[in-house]
Amino acid sequence: MKYVDEFRNGKQAMAIAKKIAEQVKTLNVSKQRPLQFMEVCGGHTHSIFRYGLAQFLPEEIEFIHGPGCPVCVLPMGVVDDCISIAERPDVIFTTFGDAMRVPGSKKSLLQAKAEGHDVRMVYSPLDALQIAKQNPEREVVFFGLGFETTMPSTALTLQQAAQEHVKNFSLFCNHITIIPTIKAMLDSPDMRLDGFLGPGHVSMVIGSQPYEFISRDYNRPLVIAGFEPLDILQSVYMLVKQLVDGRCEVENQYERIVPKTGNQVALHSIGDVFELREFFEWRGMGSIDHSGVRIREKYADFDAERKFAMPRLKIADPDAAQCGEVVTGVIKPEQCKLFGKSCTPQTPIGALMVSTEGACAAHYHYGQIEIPISQVVNR
Ligand code: SF4
Repeated sequence: MKYVDEFRNGKQAMAIAKKIAEQVKTLNVSKQRPLQFMEVCGGHTHSIFRYGLAQFLPEEIEFIHGPGCPVCVLPMGVVDDCISIAERPDVIFTTFGDAMRVPGSKKSLLQAKAEGHDVRMVYSPLDALQIAKQNPEREVVFFGLGFETTMPSTALTLQQAAQEHVKNFSLFCNHITIIPTIKAMLDSPDMRLDGFLGPGHVSMVIGSQPYEFISRDYNRPLVIAGFEPLDILQSVYMLVKQLVDGRCEVENQYERIVPKTGNQVALHSIGDVFELREFFEWRGMGSIDHSGVRIREKYADFDAERKFAMPRLKIADPDAAQCGEVVTGVIKPEQCKLFGKSCTPQTPIGALMVSTEGACAAHYHYGQIEIPISQVVNR
């Protein structure tokens, strides 16, 4: 297939769905205990809801929405740290648009901006570096977040800042890394997943090899999946087929983008700039060992954590918010007591309602609509 429309072809989607249903019939599963496949990546969550893909599947298969939206897993305390920096009169604080709306304990970065603080939305860390060069009398801080997908551009920007001796630029680094996160979920005593849809964009950087421990040590299949409807349906078929065949492997449906060994240039930049943190706090999931990165000593002059004092407090979500249970697949978004009532995309209480990749926001926008199956694709 060469064009995007071909990846949204309704007839082919129905044909794959039929093959999935036929294969599932040969397995000993019931609607009461369906197969549970976790899509780790928020981009997949968005596609699943947008195209109504769950409606294509037999009731014996269930998607579990994982923790793969980096905005959604930002703890409140980190947002408060950002605001403490942004409120300094000498600072221009920059970040991506979604991150500006994540609620902190008292306010979001967007609210800090509305109060008159210099918070700016940028499309890339290079934009932030440019702002620093244009404003040498101010400190410009870039709030970097995301998995290995966004890490390379942040690393390259820091390397460029160092080469050009830009003294007034720094990074508040909250990048996270996927493998320890999946491992933590697999180690959870509540874990009952039957397989994973592996993240497409992260895998473009790290390749398929790092996932091999999942099939080898945990006996769970993983299929790296693209983001179009047929990509996801085909990946589900590949997972089911492995179970039917009694196999347990890492397979790569997204071969047109994801090389087995990843992107060596990007990995080299990441390794030059970042090192693993011992612990990293996730919203709703607690601390996960080695799941975040920090800036190496070599780039210490560009580290906002060393440059600015921050409150560094751990702040729990409101009691009624069930974000942690949603990101670990224990409940569905609509089962949260706040869903669609006090927590909506306009008034998010939890971060999963902020980003378009958040399970709650995706479910709010698309999940409540009953769509005739014939109309689900090509829209
Ligand atoms: S509805 Fe809001 S509070 Fe509840 S899980 Fe979703 S984002 Fe969190």
